[in-house]
Amino acid sequence: MNREEMAGRVATQSGPWDMAVIGGGATGVGIAVDASARGYDVLLLEQHDFGKGTSSRSTKLVHGGVRYLEQGNISLVMEALKERGVLRQNAPHLVSDLGFVVPNYEWWEAPFYGIGLKVYNLLAGKYGFGASQILSREETLARLPTIRTEGLRGGVVYYDGQFDDTRLLINLVATAAEQGATLVNYAPVTGLTRDADGYVDGVVARDLETGAELRAGARVVINAAGPFCDEVRRLADPGARAMLAPSQGIHLVFDRSFLPGRSAIMVPHTSDGRVMFAIPWHGHTLVGTTDTPIPYPELEPLPREEEIEFILTTAARYLERPPTRADVLSVFVGIRPLVRSGDGANTAALSRDHTIHIDGSGLLTVTGGKWTTYRNMAEDCVNQAATLARLPEKPCTTRTLNVHGYHKHAEKFGHLAVYGSDALAIQDLMRADPERAAPLHPELPYCGAEFVWAARYELARTVEDALARRTRALFLNARAAVEMAPRVAELMARELGRDEAWEDMQVRAFREVAQGYLVR
Ligand SMILES: Cc1cc2nc3c(=O)[nH]c(=O)nc-3n(C[C@H](O)[C@H](O)[C@H](O)COP(=O)(O)OP(=O)(O)OC[C@H]3O[C@@H](n4cnc5c(N)ncnc54)[C@H](O)[C@@H]3O)c2cc1C
Repeated sequence: MNREEMAGRVATQSGPWDMAVIGGGATGVGIAVDASARGYDVLLLEQHDFGKGTSSRSTKLVHGGVRYLEQGNISLVMEALKERGVLRQNAPHLVSDLGFVVPNYEWWEAPFYGIGLKVYNLLAGKYGFGASQILSREETLARLPTIRTEGLRGGVVYYDGQFDDTRLLINLVATAAEQGATLVNYAPVTGLTRDADGYVDGVVARDLETGAELRAGARVVINAAGPFCDEVRRLADPGARAMLAPSQGIHLVFDRSFLPGRSAIMVPHTSDGRVMFAIPWHGHTLVGTTDTPIPYPELEPLPREEEIEFILTTAARYLERPPTRADVLSVFVGIRPLVRSGDGANTAALSRDHTIHIDGSGLLTVTGGKWTTYRNMAEDCVNQAATLARLPEKPCTTRTLNVHGYHKHAEKFGHLAVYGSDALAIQDLMRADPERAAPLHPELPYCGAEFVWAARYELARTVEDALARRTRALFLNARAAVEMAPRVAELMARELGRDEAWEDMQVRAFREVAQGYLVR
């Protein structure tokens, strides 16, 4: 993938694109994959880097959502369980099974959760990930050696999927590009154009690398700007009523010793009635999340003090050794694009299903849903968009479309497993220059070759892109990521033809962003 070449296509495109998509998160990129695979001519513009928004900040679960089952939302759970199975089939290098243990401290919990999780499993049908099971106290401790033992009776284990959100996203960008889509990062859409009848017929954007204005006509414009979709709608209609009630969720990351096994903990009811997870992820422990209504979305949202305290207190209730602030290696915050239903202030009651909305101007907005259901959301959206734009009907093909990097036994590549079949090419880069084969930091596995790869083939344009979303250094250990930044800048500068001033500027900018991921 080459950014310059793709941005160049925008200028040379002769007629209108079939579809122009605003936003390069799970929703927008999913649409670009679906539409291009059907044979439509697609342009996607992202204001920052792919995945800069919510799509890099999830709990990393490919799941049906046990909580929605409790709320009785059976159709949502069934759809997500099916999509979970489809995704594991199409991207086996990125989705793996994970056992989740619900620890039981009360007598009624084993039968209650035992039955509930059996139903969850049954709903998955042929897409099941493994049967749930009631565990004895000893079996629970064998799976969760660090769980609080006082009063522990046993547990219930069930299976769900786990993934790396931005690795999937960047592999989807590659898939869309292979299908012929044009995807440009660092190109914010700043305006919408209209035809003689007042219908939106294109986008105006700025190429942040060259400063050039990009204009693209389109038969339909799709707003997939996630938490920012109301702002995009207001480009067409400044008076548009808000569709979203954004809320933020934070995660804390600790080292592996807090959860050393291969199982996760699922707490079905925290003190504020929410579900919380502690999950082993890339050799670390991820704990989250919260749900705090916020007035407006920001690209780099910050955790609130009470959110950090809430997660630490909840974790302390379940872990023999309570984590402290000093143990936090990284904190990251994501914004849920929840669709308003009436004027409800309770975000847990807002729609978690996806919504497709067409404004009077013809702008199509798609939002809500979750990472797990991105494919299904894209299928619905492209069907609607094609009808709206009066494009010839073409069937969706993504149910059986392999995601770029598809590899059935990627685990044999060690920490390079997330690259799937691309791991072989990265290993070649490592062999060609042994200096690029060594980890850049003793606390993280990432080596020089991965940053060369990110800049050369994965559209990473900044040190932050490479440390936050091509590798996950910033999300795993913010201090280590800051320490790696100068070396990463040097490697990337060579690939992108940049000078020392660029390197210095990049390191400074990255340090500033990383401050928001540190807890003091
Ligand atoms: C805390 C948290 C945990 C979650 N955990 C899970 C989970 O474990 N599993 C799961 O399935 N789902 C999970 N989700 C849900 C999932 O992450 C989201 O549904 C999904 O990432 C939303 O993707 P999106 O593309 O709609 O939004 P985003 O990822 O935010 O993408 C929107 C993009 O639009 C861009 N944009 C905005 N304005 C413009 C403009 N003017 N021009 C160009 N680009 C623009 C933004 O920069 C952004 O990159 C979680 C959500 C949160 C908040």
